Amino acid sequence: RLEARNLTKRFAGKTVVDDLSLRIAPGQVTCLLGPSGCGKSTTLRMIAGVDMQDAGTISVDGALICDTVYRVPPERRSIGLMFQDFALFPHLSVGANVAFGLSGAKSERTERVRHLLDRVGLAGYHDSYPHELSGGEQQRVALARALAPRPRIMLMDEPFSGLDNRLRDGIRDETLAVLKEEDTSVLLVTHEPEEAMRMADDIALMRGGRIVQQGAPYNIYNAPVDKEAVAFFSDIN
Ligand code: ATP
Ligand code: MG
Repeated sequence: RLEARNLTKRFAGKTVVDDLSLRIAPGQVTCLLGPSGCGKSTTLRMIAGVDMQDAGTISVDGALICDTVYRVPPERRSIGLMFQDFALFPHLSVGANVAFGLSGAKSERTERVRHLLDRVGLAGYHDSYPHELSGGEQQRVALARALAPRPRIMLMDEPFSGLDNRLRDGIRDETLAVLKEEDTSVLLVTHEPEEAMRMADDIALMRGGRIVQQGAPYNIYNAPVDKEAVAFFSDIN
């Protein structure tokens, strides 16, 4: 369970994340949903540890990982990252990309890479290079790479927005299935209500740097907190 409390982030005097509190329950997909510019990516970067907040705390299972003076470095947070431009290492093979963050015995690493590539349907691509893969295939390699070290929490920032519409639904469902199987908690950022409704166990609705409502998709959709939330969801058909 990850808990962010009273996070605030300012850029040049402008408050971008404003006293934000958010919880991510174990084994669940929590969607951070809100319009462009509301501060979603900034929030994710603070949780990942690549940006530092101006106020507030982040803890995992009750243990503090970050406040304004103390900070566990990103690589020790057991947090996996997947961004829209999930850049694979172009000079490394698919297998080497997936193995990149792994340590431990060689046989275990090899087996982990084999299992994940098999699981995302790319068993035959171990020795291929990223440029030889389609966008959808690269996205699946990126998922395998992010999951390889068994992160407890996976942060995904609009990971599907670079994919064309025909591929997107299939890859979303496939990704969800793999994430569930790996028992990883997920914080998925999106500005599309439809994507959140499709993927989330829990939705945190964000606006102007704050969480205005958090709850099950059914509840958020049926009992929006205010008129703006109603308007935001009205695009779903
Ligand atoms: P989108 O859906 O378009 O990705 P977002 O919700 O992820 O939007 P953020 O990227 O978190 O939004 O940005 C929130 C606000 O903070 C924006 O107004 C942005 O211009 C500003 N901002 C983000 N990063 C910086 C930065 N490094 N320096 C200055 N301003 C920034
Ligand atoms: Mg963003």
